[in-house]
Amino acid sequence: MSFNQWLSQRIEKTKQAGLYRELRTMSTAPQPKMIVNGTQQIVFSSNNYLGIANDPIVMEKALKTLEEFGMGSSGSRLTTGNTEWHEMLENRIASFKRKEAALLFSSGYLANIGVLSSLPEKGDVLLSDQLNHASIIDGCRLSKAETVIYKHSDMSNLEEKLIETQTYTRRFIVTDGVFSMDGSIAPLDDIMKLSERYDAYVIVDDAHATGVLGERGRGTSELFGVSPDVVIGTLSKAVGVEGGFVTGSRVLIDFLINHARTFIFQTSLPPVSCGAAYAAFDIIEKRQELRERLHRQINVIKGTLESMGFTVYGQGTPIIPVIIGDTEKSVRFSKKLEENGIYAPAIRPPTVPEGESRIRLTVTATHNDSHIEHLLASFEEIGRELEII
Ligand code: PMP
Repeated sequence: MSFNQWLSQRIEKTKQAGLYRELRTMSTAPQPKMIVNGTQQIVFSSNNYLGIANDPIVMEKALKTLEEFGMGSSGSRLTTGNTEWHEMLENRIASFKRKEAALLFSSGYLANIGVLSSLPEKGDVLLSDQLNHASIIDGCRLSKAETVIYKHSDMSNLEEKLIETQTYTRRFIVTDGVFSMDGSIAPLDDIMKLSERYDAYVIVDDAHATGVLGERGRGTSELFGVSPDVVIGTLSKAVGVEGGFVTGSRVLIDFLINHARTFIFQTSLPPVSCGAAYAAFDIIEKRQELRERLHRQINVIKGTLESMGFTVYGQGTPIIPVIIGDTEKSVRFSKKLEENGIYAPAIRPPTVPEGESRIRLTVTATHNDSHIEHLLASFEEIGRELEII
């Protein structure tokens, strides 16, 4: 069998299982209305939660940094790729997250891999939430420590696992702050209490919480008034740019500079991204009205869909998953939304459990009332047609 025949057979199996994925082409900037595959759609699947990706102040800062520093950074941070913009942004992130220090990575994915593959040692154990993001799962796989999965945000199950793993040298609890497919928030206050009782360290991936949760958008730590040992984040969602970061103590950051392979062996972020992200943090901190608007939109959408009879997950985060159940029906639902001018993808197994296929809506502060009215009217119409409500 030829190489391509072998791959075609495997793809055919993916298609038969209804799990085939295809790219869509966006021909416009990330706004609520975009041209998707040549047709105009109201997009309810963007991570640009506060609309910062094309904010004029951020773009102006990007252009200025671009003129000064050029495009690529030309090397890893430890060779020629460490500019003053990288250091300024790290200081900005550390002060924003109320931590001693921060370290940039090329993406949130690589930040998770870098931390989890370097921090725990052989003889340690990682206690990982069942619904953690793929980058945490991959980081655990690369770690020399063993991994034990606990049930999603189930504190008595986590406690059981902490009791069972007392013979390991060190325990690390690792969790998403906001779960990307469920929109739920990790009970960080309880996790911190358990970590104190059982002498474990806590690592939180605040990818979807940064800019969104807490009064100033500092994330789940601010929301719960706690300070985990390691807080990871991305610049690609509410911050509206690209890149990832880790925050914590100065010694943690020194350790990662010396041991995290995804930091050491990767070309650093382009300075233009650092300049843009620097400006974005000012918006996040100062423009509270964007966050307030976002949370109003979340409540309207979730509340209305629930009153129509839909099962809606999520806990006051911009991720609003509407459970359809059957995979094929979810895909049909998403297609019908698209025919109505709404882009919201169906999420299927293995990304979510079997029987829990869903339409994963995300809302942004830049959606207006008419976008939301159209979304809700379409859900009601299609929900009745497909006998979901
Ligand atoms: N963690 C979580 C919870 C995420 O949802 C994502 C993005 N899908 C990442 C990490 C990865 O972040 P990035 O896109 O910056 O690689």
